[in-house]
Amino acid sequence: MAIRTVNQIELKGKRVFIRVDFNVPQNEKGEVTDDTRIVQSLPTIRSVMEAGGKTILASHLGRPKGKRDPKFSLAPVAERLSKLLGKRVALAIDCIGEEVQKQIAGMKEGEVLLLENLRFHPEEEKNDETFSKALASLCDVYVNDAFGTAHRAHASTEGMTRYVKTVAAGFLMMKEIESLEKALASPQKPYVAILGGAKVSDKIGVIENLLDKVTTVLVGGGMAYTFLRAKGFDVGKSLVEEDQISFSLGLLERGKGKVKFLLPSDHIAAERMDAQAKKQIVKNEKIPPDWVCLDIGPETVKLFSEEIMSAKTIVWNGPMGVFEMEPFSQGTFAIAQAVAKSSAFSIVGGGDSVAAVNKAGVADKISHISTGGGASLEFLEGKKLPGIEALRRG
Ligand code: AMP
Repeated sequence: MAIRTVNQIELKGKRVFIRVDFNVPQNEKGEVTDDTRIVQSLPTIRSVMEAGGKTILASHLGRPKGKRDPKFSLAPVAERLSKLLGKRVALAIDCIGEEVQKQIAGMKEGEVLLLENLRFHPEEEKNDETFSKALASLCDVYVNDAFGTAHRAHASTEGMTRYVKTVAAGFLMMKEIESLEKALASPQKPYVAILGGAKVSDKIGVIENLLDKVTTVLVGGGMAYTFLRAKGFDVGKSLVEEDQISFSLGLLERGKGKVKFLLPSDHIAAERMDAQAKKQIVKNEKIPPDWVCLDIGPETVKLFSEEIMSAKTIVWNGPMGVFEMEPFSQGTFAIAQAVAKSSAFSIVGGGDSVAAVNKAGVADKISHISTGGGASLEFLEGKKLPGIEALRRG
């Protein structure tokens, strides 16, 4: 069944529950240090307000471990959201219960109420039926705009949708689904997948699923060393997942003749994982036994960039090196620049690659920046995401 978007539903006078992702970073004082996630949810919230709905917002924040903890209260979010909307957003005492029911009953059209942290209740992550029904009883319409948690079957992302008659996707959620579907269903070729980050084991599913769809796979980051080891190179003290070596070799074999599978040919190696450590550029054949490779080298940047420049579709997940340390960040930033320069339809997902694209100041040149690292990976693995499937119910 096709998924409806929030603006395709009659909302006037209705109680509209929107599952948002307000899991924002905060400083020690509890102040919101980056309000991107709040800003991104504004189009959906405004659309409900303008349609005359009563907006009920719900989110998790941090890991309160199923207990009420003032440290994880959504109060700072309510404050920031009020400023952004130019309208007072009240914070409910809890996310379920009589008190909350009463507060909602008193709401006028166009008003906005933020429920308190969903994860103050352990039942949220357990997808508990009674808790799901309690959430569902608060609303007439359910909207999910939190793609980042769509791969989890929680009460607020999956359970409660069984007890609400009308469900829909928010604008942010819809953009994620449409962009990722485009990359899976009808991608234009050449189609280049760029995979990096620490571990092969985290990206196995994606590589397997994409192997039948892409023209080229570029592997960088820590995961490249398990592949290089599988090909017989001595990679020194670089990150290797011993138990993934034979699997990696199998993948390379399976891709033969079908996919161009490119691994780094040179590296920035260091004496130890430390920004101050001595470093040098080394080729695959010359990695010193006691050194650790922490970024792709200039030759690899050139090789990868050429592939990226000729692509029509690009999916990128995971940094090319330990980009948190300046001396090992150049490869990741160079790839960010190349993806930005390319005219391909590009999707960047995963916290680190998104951070790199933002830091490089090229975010506006990327077709779609996914708000959910884990969720976008599972989507690209071809898995059905419970939070998305739930929206197909009606
Ligand atoms: P992931 O969460 O799997 O995308 O991994 C991201 C992490 O991989 C980052 O914290 C990077 O520092 C790390 N990483 C990238 N390249 C390397 C490398 N060559 N060696 C060790 N860690 C790396």
